[in-house]
Amino acid sequence: MYDVAIIGAGIAGMATAARLQARGLRTIVFEAHGQPGGCAGFFRRRGFAFDVGATTLVDFEPGGVGGELLTDIGLSPVLGEALPGYVAWLPDRRVTLHRDSWAWSVERLRTLGDTPAHQRFWRWMDQLATVFWRASRAGVSLPLTGVGDVLQAARRVGLANLPLVRYLRWTMADALRACGLHEDRPLRGLLSLLLEDTVHASVEQAPLINAALGMTIRGAGLTRATGGMHGFWRRFTAHYRALGGTLRVGCPVQQVQKQHNVFQARTRRGDFFARQVVSAVPATLTARLIPELAPRLRPYLERDEKSLGGAIVEFLGVPEDEVAGQAFTHHQLMQDYDAPLGNGNNMFISVSAPGDHDSAPPGCRAVMISTHCQLADWQGLDADAYQQRKSEMGQRLIAYARRVYPRLGQAALVEEVATPRTYERFTQRPGGAVGGVRQMLTNSNQHAVPHDLGLPGCWLVGDSTWPGLGTVACVLGSRLVAERVLGRSQSRFGRSDSRRFGEALGHHASPKVRKSMRQEHLTPPAPA
Ligand SMILES: Cc1cc2nc3c(=O)[nH]c(=O)nc-3n(C[C@H](O)[C@H](O)[C@H](O)COP(=O)(O)OP(=O)(O)OC[C@H]3O[C@@H](n4cnc5c(N)ncnc54)[C@H](O)[C@@H]3O)c2cc1C
Repeated sequence: MYDVAIIGAGIAGMATAARLQARGLRTIVFEAHGQPGGCAGFFRRRGFAFDVGATTLVDFEPGGVGGELLTDIGLSPVLGEALPGYVAWLPDRRVTLHRDSWAWSVERLRTLGDTPAHQRFWRWMDQLATVFWRASRAGVSLPLTGVGDVLQAARRVGLANLPLVRYLRWTMADALRACGLHEDRPLRGLLSLLLEDTVHASVEQAPLINAALGMTIRGAGLTRATGGMHGFWRRFTAHYRALGGTLRVGCPVQQVQKQHNVFQARTRRGDFFARQVVSAVPATLTARLIPELAPRLRPYLERDEKSLGGAIVEFLGVPEDEVAGQAFTHHQLMQDYDAPLGNGNNMFISVSAPGDHDSAPPGCRAVMISTHCQLADWQGLDADAYQQRKSEMGQRLIAYARRVYPRLGQAALVEEVATPRTYERFTQRPGGAVGGVRQMLTNSNQHAVPHDLGLPGCWLVGDSTWPGLGTVACVLGSRLVAERVLGRSQSRFGRSDSRRFGEALGHHASPKVRKSMRQEHLTPPAPA
């Protein structure tokens, strides 16, 4: 019998499992694919390690949301390239999105306009970002379900900042209108790129506070781990196992049922029993796997059905000279202000850092080019039509990327393309929908899918629940869910078992766990 069974070894599932295991609970994670990571996973080819989705971890430095996770479980900081920023290539100009706040405040006025309206707009966005990043790091939790939640949220936002909460009903377009900047094409263009990538929504749809957070993620810190997500997961899973956790890969959960306060997870390798269960797969899959939750999830799933999207990624392993000549390793490109976003008109190029030989053999670099797409464009194609579309999209992405790297892909050692079909196959996401739903006023924050749907001992986490998509959101969700799981465990077991909850903390860790931590160069976690 396990204390907690976690379905899915993506970032949300693994972060939740590691937190609980570090608190002394006995956890097991089931993963359908042959390795952990999900949409933040990886694959290897001919000495290259490619990130299948997320290339950058957001806010993983000490003090950040991800940094708090690492401290909580006793894992040392991520080794890798802390990006100094990246470059946005708009159709008619380049804007360097510096991480440094002073450099960014100079650059945005220089490249996008220095009128009083622009200054007012940016001051406003800075204020929202500062207040709500602080609240996120403090663990603010939505949707609010009772007076206790309201009081806790108010404390975390800060009494002086409560008037800003009224902007929960505003969109980014409302803010631009209020500043008289709604028709400012370059500014709208840049915001469209940043919002499409972080809240998956347009300027017209994106809720203002979510948008202010999304467009400032680089200020919170973007890190590409050495070896990319392969390097990240190697360390993370070794640590989870050293804490005593069980990770079963290639072991999809077929169904979960609750009987007499115990959850039974059915898999091809037999049945497993746990006192609590965390579903860390998209809500659509949760509804299929846990029949008791299906009716509670149905209204959310029906509402969000049309707000799903897909991704296409071109993976290239190239000689180093094909990516020479640029100071930054990451770039975001828009080709046409007037064309719809996606299919290359908004794409992100991520190049492994120089000297990162876990990502690419010496003299070479790994390149990932990603863009959004409509799921419908990839449905109902026969084999030939699918191959043709896939090849055309790959070539299109390379052609656009040559604005930045003119010789990119000329002598590629590896070239592969991922489409919604690829994501469906390797992450089980229905239709290959990735990244959570497009966030709008009607389906985010207070209206988001909650972590608790009222089935005692059963929790939801991941990018289809609050706060939404991306590694930082999933990690914040893992913290909130782990707190609830622990709260329930402690109330069930009482004081006599309290030692179990601190078992894996530094001062309680068994000699075996301590030795294993030392071998992995890990520090035991600080007492809670
Ligand atoms: C192209 C692309 C680029 C991105 N770039 C970034 C970025 O740079 N930075 C960033 O922060 N975010 C980025 N994201 C978003 C980020 O990757 C995701 O939001 C996040 O990884 C989702 O994690 P998750 O744990 O919620 O879900 P998933 O990653 O989908 O994990 C769920 C896991 O559950 C497994 N599973 C499914 N069904 C079962 C079952 N029945 N039994 C057992 N296991 C099961 C799946 O195989 C999967 O491993 C990107 C996403 C994409 C697609």
